[in-house]
Amino acid sequence: MKAVLLKGECEVEIGDIPEPEPQEGDAVIQVKAVGLCGSGMGSYRGPRKEKPIPTGHEAAGIVADPRGAPNLKEGDRVVVLAVGGCGECECCKNGHMAYCEDVRTMSPSHCEKVAFMARCCLPIPDDMSFPVAIAVGGCGLGVGYHGVMRLNVKPDDFVVVMGVGPIGLSATLVLAHLGVKAAVVDVVPYRLELAEKLGAEFLINATNLDVTAAIIEANNGERPTKAILATSNHKAAFAALEALGPGGRMVTLGGVREWPINAFNNLSIRDRALLGSWHYHHQDFSKMMHIVESGAPVDQLVTHVFPFAEAAEAYKTFDSGQSGKVVLSLEE
Ligand SMILES: [Zn+2]
Ligand SMILES: [Zn+2]
Repeated sequence: MKAVLLKGECEVEIGDIPEPEPQEGDAVIQVKAVGLCGSGMGSYRGPRKEKPIPTGHEAAGIVADPRGAPNLKEGDRVVVLAVGGCGECECCKNGHMAYCEDVRTMSPSHCEKVAFMARCCLPIPDDMSFPVAIAVGGCGLGVGYHGVMRLNVKPDDFVVVMGVGPIGLSATLVLAHLGVKAAVVDVVPYRLELAEKLGAEFLINATNLDVTAAIIEANNGERPTKAILATSNHKAAFAALEALGPGGRMVTLGGVREWPINAFNNLSIRDRALLGSWHYHHQDFSKMMHIVESGAPVDQLVTHVFPFAEAAEAYKTFDSGQSGKVVLSLEE
């Protein structure tokens, strides 16, 4: 079957890989749309691979073979939750498969078919397009939603969102939906303008600026109570932590990997907390769908839809920063 292959050094080709072999409990999905995620861009930009590698971990499509799963039938429209668990343990039963000791992730997905846990194939409404399903149930709304929930936001919070790629944009949308004031920080005007459309009240272009001071100024001289880190930029991470007020909390949504924190200076002073958050959980999905049903502008998270054959152009566009969520479509 056809698949996007990363060659390294920002080169992409469409090649052939074997069809997926379903494991026990998997369903087979005919993929109709896939999303590009910031977490895959390191491999895209990285050194030349010995052999081009398949990629992707977001997929929406149609159930081609439910393989007996009671929750699915052939033809169902679904988006795949890319983080699944055993289904048996307490974490899984409570809808937190990401906590399962036997956690399994879906990859690759930039191909014609995927086989993944039937319990992770989540039904989408008939009137939701597959690209929007990717923005909701891929790395988008759900990841932003879960991060915002980790912060336990209150209506009188002031939240700063560092980085407004698809995840930061999604978090911005969720905060606006909850009526929480947010300032967003980025260096790309395109993304700042998009964040404003999604409900950000204050836009901070971090180019040549004391970012910490600008964040505090945006909140009328008060330090923000919460922060969301949706960039891999260390300077941005420190600027947001430094801005946080007493007892402030910052959640990191996966962008920053290794990061030289001084626990005393960066956290203990002012009792600040740094939290992790990984993807979204099964039990988040119905709440995410309530946000969609409320009329929140989730469709605006998707700025570009490319035909699958134009994957190279799609990657180039996403890499430029001049986009929100970039989707590859496999629909005819
Ligand atoms: Zn489990
Ligand atoms: Zn992702």
